[in-house]
Amino acid sequence: MKKVLIFLSFILFFACKEQPKETAETPITDSTPEEVQSSVNTFGIVIHGGAGTILKKNMTAEKEAAYKAKLEQAIKVGHTILKNGGTSLEAVEKTINVLEDSPLFNAGKGAVFNSEGVNELDASIMDGSNLNAGAVAGVKTVKNPINLAKEVMLNSPHVLLSGTGAEIFAKERKIELVDPAYFFTEDRMKSLERVKEKIKEKEANKTTAFYDPVIKDSKFGTVGCAALDKNGNLAAGTSTGGMTNKKWNRIGDSPIIGAGTYANNATCAVSSTGWGEYFIRGMVAYDISAMMEYKGISLQEASQEVIQEKLTDLGGTGGIVAIDNKGNVSMEFNTAGMYRATMNAEGELSIGIYKE
Ligand code: ASP
Repeated sequence: MKKVLIFLSFILFFACKEQPKETAETPITDSTPEEVQSSVNTFGIVIHGGAGTILKKNMTAEKEAAYKAKLEQAIKVGHTILKNGGTSLEAVEKTINVLEDSPLFNAGKGAVFNSEGVNELDASIMDGSNLNAGAVAGVKTVKNPINLAKEVMLNSPHVLLSGTGAEIFAKERKIELVDPAYFFTEDRMKSLERVKEKIKEKEANKTTAFYDPVIKDSKFGTVGCAALDKNGNLAAGTSTGGMTNKKWNRIGDSPIIGAGTYANNATCAVSSTGWGEYFIRGMVAYDISAMMEYKGISLQEASQEVIQEKLTDLGGTGGIVAIDNKGNVSMEFNTAGMYRATMNAEGELSIGIYKE
């Protein structure tokens, strides 16, 4: 009898033993198995090249064509990766590389100058399958800051590295470095001179002499990408030179997870562009995801409310691109324009610049 009792308690012990917990690496999803099934094999990608006072009347036909061509080239790189079964993370990184390498955008080559005439670059990337993230701020010699952000995410115990330390890490990880002169462009130098001139005028008129009166009329020009791959994994990334004439090692929203970039398989992936201080205060990218999660509303409803109501009421300007875990896309902005493009699983491409 005693033996039978011991045997029974043994069985009971194993039957009640807790199932192993999900690890942090387990993909996060709220979808039912049917939903996951239906989302497999669909994919999509959306990009931006910055928002701001982008008006048709100030644009030449050649310039417009050049922007559109670069947006198309970039998005097709990411789309091909996704079509061939690659990860959203890789698609985001490689798409952003094309935009970083182009002098048209305020990221990598073509980044704006700070008040001392130096380029300080910021970037971040996030993997929606495990909420892993990496970011860098204030780097001066990293050719493609988005690559370094990914390296921080995958090969360091940290999320955000800045300045000299980030550059030491880049060297150790054999990330491509360039002479700071690589980032010089005539156009951006002229913008810096223009901004300094405007500030001088403001000072002479004894009005506020920060850079905010100038920002209101700015084109921001940051680049970003959000993607959904065939496995239902979301990712987002953002890369920027920040804001013209920035001072004091100012860091904007682009390398701040939750403000400039956010991705969660349960909701959506978002990349922001605009007046960074407001995007940080509003935690814009995370807020869109949180509104979907807590209120159960769609990506379009969430981004509309966050950009057109919350950000606008705060006094912020800019926009976002985002994609949800079903492939729905949102490109919402409260400025005159935003360079943007999206491509779905069927290969349908749409490119926009102005408010249409
Ligand atoms: N959000 C960026 C920043 O504040 C600027 C931009 O989007 O172009 O640094």
